[in-house]
Amino acid sequence: MKNKEIADLLKRMGTLLEIKGENAFKIRAYYKAADNIAGLSEDVAVVSEEGRLGEIPGIGKTIAEKIGEWLATGQLKAYGKLTAEVPETLLEIVDIPTVGPKKAHLFFDKLKITTIDQLRAAATDGRLAQLPGVQQKTIDNILHGIGVVAKGMERINRGTADQIASEIVADLRQLSCVRKIDVAGSFRRGRETVGDLDLLAEATDPAEVMRVFTGLPTVAAVQAHGDTKSSVRTRQNVQVDLRVVDGESYGAALLYFTGSKYFNIKLRQIAKKGGMKVNEYGIFKELKNSERKLAGQTEKECFAVLGLPFVPPELREEMGAAELFDEDQPRRVPDLIEQRHIKGEFHVHSTYSDGKNTIAEMADKAKELGYHYLAVSDHSQALRVAHGVVEADLKRKRREIDALNTKEKSFGILMGSEVEIDTNGKLDYNDRILSEFDVVIAAIHSGFQQTSQQLTKRLVNACRNKHVNIIAHPLGVHFGKREPYDVDFDEVCRAAADNNVFLEINSFPIRLDLDSSHVYAARRHGVKFVINTDAHRAEHMDYMKFGISIARRGWLGKADVLNTRTWKQVAAALKK
Ligand SMILES: [Zn+2]
Ligand SMILES: [Zn+2]
Repeated sequence: MKNKEIADLLKRMGTLLEIKGENAFKIRAYYKAADNIAGLSEDVAVVSEEGRLGEIPGIGKTIAEKIGEWLATGQLKAYGKLTAEVPETLLEIVDIPTVGPKKAHLFFDKLKITTIDQLRAAATDGRLAQLPGVQQKTIDNILHGIGVVAKGMERINRGTADQIASEIVADLRQLSCVRKIDVAGSFRRGRETVGDLDLLAEATDPAEVMRVFTGLPTVAAVQAHGDTKSSVRTRQNVQVDLRVVDGESYGAALLYFTGSKYFNIKLRQIAKKGGMKVNEYGIFKELKNSERKLAGQTEKECFAVLGLPFVPPELREEMGAAELFDEDQPRRVPDLIEQRHIKGEFHVHSTYSDGKNTIAEMADKAKELGYHYLAVSDHSQALRVAHGVVEADLKRKRREIDALNTKEKSFGILMGSEVEIDTNGKLDYNDRILSEFDVVIAAIHSGFQQTSQQLTKRLVNACRNKHVNIIAHPLGVHFGKREPYDVDFDEVCRAAADNNVFLEINSFPIRLDLDSSHVYAARRHGVKFVINTDAHRAEHMDYMKFGISIARRGWLGKADVLNTRTWKQVAAALKK
């Protein structure tokens, strides 16, 4: 289906027209068309073929013709013409936090700025400061934003990494000579972001594996092509290394290439104390003039000869290492939460706010995942950009949920809400309305620039409200756009623990908020957690696995997470 590509193209047209300074109606037409095509459940190519493009809301004759042209030729003349005037590199400038299309227009119009480098130069040499309405604070924010974007470009988000890795692994697994294949590295450790991908395989014909790997359709450039090791760069500009190793060394190699560096150093120290040596080929006993191999085939046996329990990849970090390696205590690895423990979730959106699927469609997906319950928590009224739900529509939503529930035996839909915490810490619905929800999630979506004190107060106030059960994406992280808020995290944790409020691990791959280090810290405050996906489409509910990785990295077990419980247990646990 080409829907996403066309929606992206139309959105880019809209943004470029906005930077150019075109009239607002024309710009909005493109954004609206992009939105409606992204939300279309059928293939836009089929709709076009059958001459029904005009039936999609927001698609007039001009845009319908453009879609037809792109589908027929793979090109769009108007886009070529537009980017000759307004270069595509301006889209990167729009994406810098705090910039957006209006400022990009100003910088382009007055200073002919078209690239991030030019913007950085103009911000530092004083030219930006001379523009109307641009203050020092604006410039500081822009420079900070450029830094955040640069950092985001060095690493990829977990969703993209997962997609690239699973496609390559699936392709290579089809080869009959491949006996085993794993993704190692920081990806296997469940890191929030990934630098490059390290793949490890065992195969009877390594040359064949290398030949197929370097020729995969996703490969844009081959950087090295060896007998047992190759490196490529994918079309998304991600480096992927693949090594083929012998079966007797597979476990040792997997252990070695999973890392982390810190963890490997720790293992070497432990080995040394026992007169052993550990490397990517195995674990060896050092004898006078030779050495004897003790283990290497599986990770499990490697850990065993070192006298260690199996350490799950997510725990192989410096964080928490003291708990693993403290010699005064028995080395005990906790039972970490697993995907199969999840019985439902509380934070998904429907067409009542900015979700693309109906409540019934979201519920169907939840049932497919084997869940017992799903809370549909749309945005509250103040969040206009996300079509927050007004009071009258809440009644309609409740009736729809009740009607759907009468048809269910072992599954329940819950009425939730993701309620705005305003810039003063007040909630967007009054207590009477809040009392009618099954689950109340409080969240911040505005006023990110406030002081640490103000942001902390907003979150603490929300925890103290007697109806609030969950704080969503507590630190406002947005990969490549926003780093965690500067809040007094200890104070937020205390407020959450004292008021029986659950802190969310948001599994959406560009968020992953709380991240693992904050989960680890919050656990020590006695905070309880909930893992949600914040799905805006049914398929986003598959993101749960990313949140699980974060929870595992933060040392959480089943009992630490609300949505491992049955609904009856949840209802009791939510009581304030
Ligand atoms: Zn939100
Ligand atoms: Zn949300």
